[in-house]
Amino acid sequence: MPSPRYDYLVTGAGAAGLSLVYHLNRAGLTDRRILLLDRAPKTGDDRTWCFWEAGVGAFEPIVFRSWERIAFYGEGFSGTWAIAPYRYKMIRSVDFYRFMSAWLDDQPNIERELAEVAHVESDGDEAVVRTRDGRVYRGAWAFNSILFDPPARQPDYHFLLQHFLGWVIRTPQRSFDPQVATLMDFRVAQFDDARFVYVLPLDEHSALVEYTVFSPALLPREEYGRHLASYIAEQLHIATFDVQHEEFGVIPMTDAPFPAGQGGRVINIGTAGGCTKPSTGYTFLRIQRRSQRIAQALKATGHPGAYDSPGRSRYALFDSVLLNVLESGRAQGRRVFTDLFSRNPPQRVLRFLDEDTTPAEDLRIMSSVDIPAFVEATADEGRRRLVRAWGRRGRLKPGS
Ligand SMILES: Cc1cc2nc3c(=O)[nH]c(=O)nc-3n(C[C@H](O)[C@H](O)[C@H](O)COP(=O)(O)OP(=O)(O)OC[C@H]3O[C@@H](n4cnc5c(N)ncnc54)[C@H](O)[C@@H]3O)c2cc1C
Repeated sequence: MPSPRYDYLVTGAGAAGLSLVYHLNRAGLTDRRILLLDRAPKTGDDRTWCFWEAGVGAFEPIVFRSWERIAFYGEGFSGTWAIAPYRYKMIRSVDFYRFMSAWLDDQPNIERELAEVAHVESDGDEAVVRTRDGRVYRGAWAFNSILFDPPARQPDYHFLLQHFLGWVIRTPQRSFDPQVATLMDFRVAQFDDARFVYVLPLDEHSALVEYTVFSPALLPREEYGRHLASYIAEQLHIATFDVQHEEFGVIPMTDAPFPAGQGGRVINIGTAGGCTKPSTGYTFLRIQRRSQRIAQALKATGHPGAYDSPGRSRYALFDSVLLNVLESGRAQGRRVFTDLFSRNPPQRVLRFLDEDTTPAEDLRIMSSVDIPAFVEATADEGRRRLVRAWGRRGRLKPGS
């Protein structure tokens, strides 16, 4: 029996797969036959996405909370600011999955299948998806968000992990200011890593409090809870609370390239497609932007466009330099972020992390951090890039 032919196969129905099909149809591609595959029904509250954004975003109706003011606590410095035109926003995955499921019910061109995907590959001018139970699907293009091969440590690239435990806590007394989100609170022992807590108040009695570490390896699981409990007691001065929800996550922070796809007809998206910003772990908004670009390119040309590798812009160098500084310990993470927030308006820092600054603003950001440490790290990055370029040239030489 011939396998069914689709226009687009989308493997993985998490943030990236769901966002992509949403943007495809919103771009008017409702005449394309799309198949969305995931091994799980995606109904749970498995993560919370936070990001800053100016104006109204694609998923504004399901923004669970947003804050116009942020706070930062660093080394000998703290501040609270209004961040207009930005707001810091929170979307709970449970709301996102529910919203998408209801929306998908009204999209006759998109089919959903529950299946464990084994392979996604190019076969001539087609993409082919094979499932573990032997099903085969063919399409003109496949967009894959399954991380089949998580990035491994490689010489000459940086590799840190951002790992965190978050609790939604509820307190009997009024404990939080719902107007202010604490983006980073470094008033915790650093243990030679970069460690901070963020506190996102849901109302006066409850907040998501998350203990976050940037380091090469995970901690024993019980340590996260211990550090989180001490922070709640010592910095928030809260003695009694209930934990209503828990989330644990690990996000790779690496400048190693993620493969663009599996051959010409398979395009990787989401974390698997390199959408995670190496120096911060923020991914959700980058997924939205990439999905919109793919949808617009497909609409305009029928082709998803060139792989817009995050590794080519000047921000890729800034990411590598920051990872270099953090990984080598040339400067402590707490010091770097304190310098950034104490010497720049927060909007400039957010714009920079959002890769939206002018070269003049970049210079101001660069002159606000520990210059000798960053000059050394930049020189080291220049050397690493030369070594990689020579390596590539060597591999490309005829007969080599
Ligand atoms: C706990 C947590 C919190 C995060 N918080 C933030 C945040 O606040 N802000 C931010 O910007 N980023 C955040 N991130 C990073 C990033 O936004 C998320 O990881 C995001 O979900 C990545 O989207 P994705 O589609 O690439 O991966 P996922 O959302 O993980 O989707 C991948 C999908 O593939 C499916 N799948 C996997 N293997 C198979 C298989 N073999 N067959 C079929 N299906 C398969 C999975 O079931 C899943 O649905 C967070 C990450 C985690 C883990």
